[in-house]
Amino acid sequence: MTVSVVLFTCDLRLHDHPPLHTALERSREVVPLFVRDRAVDAAGFAAPNRLAFLADCLADLDAGLRERGGRLVLRSGNLADEVGKVVTETGAQEVHLAADHSAHARRREEQLGALLQTLGCRLTVHDTVNTVVAPGTVTPASSDHFAVFTPYHRHWAQQPMRTPLSAPRTVRVPEGVGSEPLPVRGYITGVSPALAAGGEWPAREQLSAWLRSGLGEYEDGHDDLGGDRTSRLSPHLHFGTLSPVECVQRALRKGGAGAEAFVRQLAWRDFHRQVLAARPDAAKRNYRSQHDRWRTSVSARRDFEAWQEGRTGYPVIDAAMRQLRHEGWMHNRGRLLTASFLTKTLYVDWRVGAEYFLSLLVDGDVANNQLNWQWMAGTGTDSRPNRVLNPVTQAKRYDPDGVYTRRWVPELADVAAPFVHEPWKLQGLERAAIDDYPDPIVDLADGLARFKRARAGRDDAP
Ligand code: FAD
Repeated sequence: MTVSVVLFTCDLRLHDHPPLHTALERSREVVPLFVRDRAVDAAGFAAPNRLAFLADCLADLDAGLRERGGRLVLRSGNLADEVGKVVTETGAQEVHLAADHSAHARRREEQLGALLQTLGCRLTVHDTVNTVVAPGTVTPASSDHFAVFTPYHRHWAQQPMRTPLSAPRTVRVPEGVGSEPLPVRGYITGVSPALAAGGEWPAREQLSAWLRSGLGEYEDGHDDLGGDRTSRLSPHLHFGTLSPVECVQRALRKGGAGAEAFVRQLAWRDFHRQVLAARPDAAKRNYRSQHDRWRTSVSARRDFEAWQEGRTGYPVIDAAMRQLRHEGWMHNRGRLLTASFLTKTLYVDWRVGAEYFLSLLVDGDVANNQLNWQWMAGTGTDSRPNRVLNPVTQAKRYDPDGVYTRRWVPELADVAAPFVHEPWKLQGLERAAIDDYPDPIVDLADGLARFKRARAGRDDAP
């Protein structure tokens, strides 16, 4: 075999990269290719934060390839057509690609497979590049996927895991393959001011630092909003600058309760992927086909806008929404609370919230985002679909000193706990001092009563 193409998508790394490893074993020359897929742009999925992070990732991947004698080839257009052109230009006999399970990725893979067949070129799709356990590997007796996490996790943890691969020493690219210039982060507008940096090199640094000094406290600290003690590796896992297999193995080598809790979260990632692989329509439709009536009135629109802007009058909700805008990322507890608030307290359709998250989240991911939204809306795989998170009690529990809330809601910077979570209880001058902060847009008891009426199928709700 003389030439292979390695098509990078959400696997923008050189370490532990089975498609690249196989292509280099089988071919004298390899074309490392990334196609800026116009269909992703057309579907509105190309949000500025992810484009900026992607620009970093591509620059870093190119730099890593150049250190090894190669370079990244960038094209844009229809993915299958662009790969076909590179195959024709180089006479490549194989294309290697990481498996991806969204409906869009699968359509695209089918289209590519059909085109390559006409060109006499073979497509090899590699599993466990972006998951630890590939969707469909473990299934219950009666279904093609697990709908409950605990038994899934039990089976997941027993699966044999491949050994992570090291990065290649050299990559030889055929001469004369044209490339578009790589995108530059600085030219992308609408990016969150405190967006993290992308790329395999920063990802590996961050993973090592996290394993050294964060993992040990993860079990106790992962819900501590103010302490910010989660790994923040989600954008790297989304863009594949880190291998989930490597993350799991390095964490397990460290051992302890923190490692177990962290690995369990990585299993959640695979869990949602196997649900999406079996039910690709769950990205848009209720996983459980009930409770699909939501508020659509003008007042619902106003409530949604207040939620977006971080002006609901519930400080922890507002803090989390402002963190999202500022960083393009939100703490998991914040995501749980804001999603519960929008779907259950305000009774606004989960799809509206999920779309807004996807417009900002740097780790915005169809499987994780849509299925976590469905989980919180009670339309997905949660076995307690009617639980409602109370933003005040949750704030007192997970941000007891108000550190997180005050960090993101400066109007409340001088308000002590516990009033920082219930500023409407302040009186006199203290209340007057925060008059630029809104009153609650909804009474929690009224929101709960509306939710119960709606879930009971009452005609007067939502
Ligand atoms: P850590 O706590 O350090 O966890 C390590 C890794 O495990 C994460 O990086 C992530 O890859 C995975 N993980 C953790 N929690 C979950 C979970 N509940 N489901 C699936 N994987 C998980 N995660 C995304 O990656 N992309 C999204 O678009 C996304 N949208 C979400 C929307 C809602 C409404 C909710 C409730 C959760 C969403 N999550 C999403 C899951 C989770 O909030 C983030 O993965 C996590 O906050 C990322 O921070 P971290 O890397 O510090 O996580």
